[in-house]
Amino acid sequence: MSSNRFVEIAVALPIDKLFHYSVPEGLRQDCSIGKRVRVRFHNRVEIGYVVGFAEKSEFLEIKPIDEIIDKTPIINDEMLKLTKWISESYFCSWGEAIAATIPSSLKKGKVSIRQRIAGPAEEARAEPIKPTRPFILTDEQKEALRTIGASLDKNEFEVFLLHGITSSGKTEVYLQAIDWTLKKSKSAIVLVPEISLTPQTIERFVARFGDRVAVIHSALTGSRRFAEWKKIKDGSASIVVGARSAIFSPVKNLGLIIVDEEHETSYKQDDVPRYHARDVACARAKFNSCPLVLGSATPSLETYYNAKRGVYKLLELTRRIDEVPLPKVKIVDMRMELATRKKIAIFSRVLLDAIDKTLKAGSQAMIFLNRRGFSTFINCKRCGLVVKCKRCDAVMVYHFDEQRLICHYCNDRQPPPEICPKCKSSYMRYFGLGTEKVESEISRIFPGANIARMDSDTTEKRGSHESILGAFKSGGIDMLIGTQMIAKGLDFPAVTLVGVVSADVSLNVPDFRAGERTFNLLTQVAGRAGRGRELGEVIVQTYAPSHYAILAASKHDYDKFYEEEIKARRELQFPPFVNLVKLTVRARNEERSEAAARDLAQEIKKNAQSIKLAGPAQAPISRMRGYYRWNILLKGRDRKELCDILRKALSAFRKPSGVLIAVDVDPISM
Ligand code: ADP
Ligand code: ZN
Ligand code: ZN
Repeated sequence: MSSNRFVEIAVALPIDKLFHYSVPEGLRQDCSIGKRVRVRFHNRVEIGYVVGFAEKSEFLEIKPIDEIIDKTPIINDEMLKLTKWISESYFCSWGEAIAATIPSSLKKGKVSIRQRIAGPAEEARAEPIKPTRPFILTDEQKEALRTIGASLDKNEFEVFLLHGITSSGKTEVYLQAIDWTLKKSKSAIVLVPEISLTPQTIERFVARFGDRVAVIHSALTGSRRFAEWKKIKDGSASIVVGARSAIFSPVKNLGLIIVDEEHETSYKQDDVPRYHARDVACARAKFNSCPLVLGSATPSLETYYNAKRGVYKLLELTRRIDEVPLPKVKIVDMRMELATRKKIAIFSRVLLDAIDKTLKAGSQAMIFLNRRGFSTFINCKRCGLVVKCKRCDAVMVYHFDEQRLICHYCNDRQPPPEICPKCKSSYMRYFGLGTEKVESEISRIFPGANIARMDSDTTEKRGSHESILGAFKSGGIDMLIGTQMIAKGLDFPAVTLVGVVSADVSLNVPDFRAGERTFNLLTQVAGRAGRGRELGEVIVQTYAPSHYAILAASKHDYDKFYEEEIKARRELQFPPFVNLVKLTVRARNEERSEAAARDLAQEIKKNAQSIKLAGPAQAPISRMRGYYRWNILLKGRDRKELCDILRKALSAFRKPSGVLIAVDVDPISM
């Protein structure tokens, strides 16, 4: 270690400060930056990370560190720099950012790397994966690869947007760009959304690159995850394929980062640190002077805007590899259905006829509704009471399988009331629908069909995901009903019909991204039809048939959607024209929560000439898990200025006890 007297320690607690400790003589030799130590902190023992040394200290009482856990540093210089950047960009402590980048077993400090080296043996693969060879690229693919490759050769930071419809060969471009990277003795990170990290996806990378691939996802057991991390750290894996947190993989000599489906909201972490993996990828690529490739059929508005302005380089794949035309999309106006029938119908005549035809032809169908459960709410016919969760300001959803009302925010369960809890009448009505109800209705109307449902209720058990998809693929199931889980990346050539029960679920959300989400979802769902030889058909039911997001999706017209959406964003001053920060103030006490939110808003306003402040306003779910919640929304053109103003206000603000403040930079939901 250096001759300095004190070490600077970052701790994974929400305190935005470093702490000084002294190093006992016997530990001096071993103490170096990037190692974990055990330190006493307010009468508790905490894991700390050594991030620096100091000659002087303004702390009065300095304790010695208790123990150095690691023989060799577990956090390298690059990761220190990146985590520092995260703590500054997303308003968390450096220690919290560091903790987010290492496997949880290391975070707890229980296991040291050395002990784990002889860890679990590689799980034997059931069947060896057949290696694949690269394809001869199409002209468009060739052009994209050549452009990315030029950047690889120059070792320069550049962001590419690979914009290509489904099956236009984006993944093949990724694979060959990775190959290019490996030839330069560098490594690559590929991010994919958790939901599309299916065996199908992993296989494509393993088939090309074999055991040089490490895979990181949330279903891995702790020890398995640790083994993969180890493989990356010691350099035996040079390609990492993984979900959000894989962006923190300690690869050696990083040469390329790819973010597939860059528009996916699951890249944003909704807990501390509230980072966006795509934006972390951008920072990391910059630090390493390497290219970043963002891929999507429906890029986020932010990304496409940057590509149009020339900040990112736009690479386009306009044709499907097999030239199979995109499926025809039919919009069904449910207002008309309502007018011709007395009762509110779940399915239009058009959709029922199409299902019938599909089943008779021996083909498969997928029916999509982005809401799980049976009935979305229960209300009293006499007094109008709607049954809500006791801890959240949210309606309870009825789940038939369990015969329970479930809160989708806190998972609280209760039996459905037979009599109204308020007026004691016995007229409780069940309204609204989820996937469970769709399933039961479909089986009633088509008793002969084999039906399966896939949503987070039916896939709780490990492996159930694969078994449902396996049965569908083999033809044992005629119709698959599901939430957005069935919308992404699945490739079933025998599916000729896709039905969307209601396109309005994602549209009627009070969020400026509602249109974008709806367009993305519909485009993805539609992409599931007609992947084989038969032409596919898509039927979309909606009460808003003339909404531009629905119209553009039905014509597979991203540019048209972008044109309308960007106009609205500019008018209303939303991203990409401004930066957003959402502050959520919460407390168990209602008045205290509101008062604290008002005081904080006042504090911010003192310096806020150049930024806009909206609120405080009750959060859309005004109470969650027993906490009353108030939101403040900040908008500013200059990101640094916005963050500086906020930082100043937060440090000046005297937070009352019992009040918690969450800062969300670039929030993805309101
Ligand atoms: P995307 O990632 O854009 O959805 P893929 O890369 O998955 O598209 O390509 C779609 C299909 O076409 C895959 O089965 C892939 O193996 C195949 N493919 C990709 N590029 C070529 C090519 N140049 N020649 C032949 N087949 C290709
Ligand atoms: Zn009542
Ligand atoms: Zn609840």
